[in-house]
Amino acid sequence: MNLIDVNTLFSTDAKCRELLTRLRFPQGPQCLRCKGPVVELETEKQLFYCKECDYQFTVTAGTIFNDSHLPLAKWFATTLLLCEAKKGMSACQIQRTIGIGSYKTAWYLCHRIRAAMIESQRNMLDGKVEVDETYVGGKRVGAGGGFKDNKEVFIGIRQRGGDLRFFHARDAKSGTLAKYIRENISKDVDVIMTDEWSAYPKAMMKAGFTGRTHKTVRHKDRIYVDGDTHTNTVESAFSLLKRGITGTWHRLSAKHLAAYLEEMTFRFNRRNRSDLFVDTLRHMVTAPVLTFERLTA
Ligand SMILES: [Zn+2]
Repeated sequence: MNLIDVNTLFSTDAKCRELLTRLRFPQGPQCLRCKGPVVELETEKQLFYCKECDYQFTVTAGTIFNDSHLPLAKWFATTLLLCEAKKGMSACQIQRTIGIGSYKTAWYLCHRIRAAMIESQRNMLDGKVEVDETYVGGKRVGAGGGFKDNKEVFIGIRQRGGDLRFFHARDAKSGTLAKYIRENISKDVDVIMTDEWSAYPKAMMKAGFTGRTHKTVRHKDRIYVDGDTHTNTVESAFSLLKRGITGTWHRLSAKHLAAYLEEMTFRFNRRNRSDLFVDTLRHMVTAPVLTFERLTA
């Protein structure tokens, strides 16, 4: 699905609503209150009506689309752009490309789409898993390793051939690493691969993994690939993240960082799937509502 397809297939509100109806009600539309059968009224907004509880609603009722005055076609086009932009896209760019009146509207629109780009189901990672840490932003102050204290710390965990997860962490000390390792990696994992950062052995122990499960690559000695032991796949994901943060989002506030990380991993984990766009819309029409108040609180 490319932008031309989306603009052709979903050029009107009615066409957009048709797809949203199929995604929200795969078994056919039912009453939002009593789950009973509904009839579709011959109205412009395609209202559904439940006779049982005398209730009318549209397919977007109670979803993130609900309090928006934007045509659904613009929502759809923006969703496609956010799905296709590997490094993300700024609200400023969306405002220009889609033609949205104010920056604030574009910003809120992007955040609501982003809020739906969340994995609803997180299985424990298994098989061969890479764990890596990286530092973004901040200024170098002090000498040696001290400069890291001023930067944002990210932890990446990736199952080879499987899912990627990013976390904005407080630090990269063993206790913090252990928490993310414990919460995301299955006890039955074959091997966990990291670089030689000295906190890892302790973190593995704290997380309940034996030394036998843990393999390290020695980047210091310029050994980046030691047979099968490397952290290249999580590192390549980190480089996308860094380019996204420095190139696309500019003034990225720490407050919204978690949402950006979710967006990055959601997209990354679906990058080879042809239904990325439709899957994102499915999340959008079924995800909990993100209100402007909550976003700016
Ligand atoms: Zn009802």
